Amino acid sequence: ASPSPKKQISNVTVCSRFRPLSSKERKDHGGRVCVCRIDDETFVFKDEKEEESTFSFDKVFYEDSLQADVYEFLALPIVRDAVNGVNGTIITYGQTGAGKTYSMEGPNVLESDDMKKGLLPRVVDGLFEHIASAGDSIKYKIKLSMVEIYMEKVRDLFDLSKDNLVIKQSKDHEMLVSGVTEIHLADTVEALQNLHAGIQNRAVGETQMNLASSRSHCAYIFTVQPYSTRDRRKTGKLVLVDLAGSEKVEKTGAEGKLLDEAKTINKSLSALGNVINALTCSSSKAIHIPYRDSKLTRLLQDALGGNSRTALICCCSPSTSNSSETFSTLRFGIRAKHI
Ligand code: ADP
Ligand code: MG
Repeated sequence: ASPSPKKQISNVTVCSRFRPLSSKERKDHGGRVCVCRIDDETFVFKDEKEEESTFSFDKVFYEDSLQADVYEFLALPIVRDAVNGVNGTIITYGQTGAGKTYSMEGPNVLESDDMKKGLLPRVVDGLFEHIASAGDSIKYKIKLSMVEIYMEKVRDLFDLSKDNLVIKQSKDHEMLVSGVTEIHLADTVEALQNLHAGIQNRAVGETQMNLASSRSHCAYIFTVQPYSTRDRRKTGKLVLVDLAGSEKVEKTGAEGKLLDEAKTINKSLSALGNVINALTCSSSKAIHIPYRDSKLTRLLQDALGGNSRTALICCCSPSTSNSSETFSTLRFGIRAKHI
């Protein structure tokens, strides 16, 4: 089977990213690699049985790709639009250990090495640069909320006592997390400090409840609100999502909490795939977009649909030892854009 789609232009960009081999993958599996580069959009994937499939994406980031390349290709246009009132979503998908958090945060959001800095600190820089270049006629307020979705419960990462927030839709179809903490960000330093604090809170909460961060989704919600004396401009919302690990849980071993988690994650990830797919299908027909199938898609409803932009990064291990999870990650990316 060769799932190789045609290129198409839309508001949805789907990329794949392969991290470098880990030392464990080198040691235990002889460093064998499942991906063979053809060009910036296409590669040949080899499974355990050496069977080959060709995959194409809007862009493929190989192991030598730079954090800055990823930002410039898929995030910068979304950041630019968010300042102009167009909502956007940037999502990392993949099995645990595939590089989702590294792509999002880098080693951590306070990392100063420009080679390592992830999307979040770059998005912060980009947002503040763009509002500064807008001049004096328009001022902007940038706000940040952070929530974690675990077992279909939405938790405020700036106030862990708010652990079951309700997602609502306003009269003008804006999705709101009722009662969530919104932090006003005065500058990039404050932005990074608050992101860091939210991420640390997430770890604290998870330790308290004995949860693994790989089993929940984390959403970073930036609101870019212009206030000008002259013209009325739209507020832009930019949501970054570090998804729960997409790996299949061993059917035989899993029971109780682990099985419930796996089912819930599976359901929300397939809801996400269905929504993205519905969005990329012909926009002329009025098709049903199944936002209500999960908290995740409900939260993202106004940042995924309508006049908004979406980037999906399918994060993958390059090792043949992970090829079956990698194959299913790649299939998710392909299916998100085409049926
Ligand atoms: P995930 O969030 O998908 O579970 P991580 O982002 O934590 O995975 O990545 C797993 C490991 O691989 C981490 O040690 C991370 O530093 C490393 N890693 C991931 N992507 C890259 C990359 N592009 N370059 C270098 N190291 C990476
Ligand atoms: Mg992670």
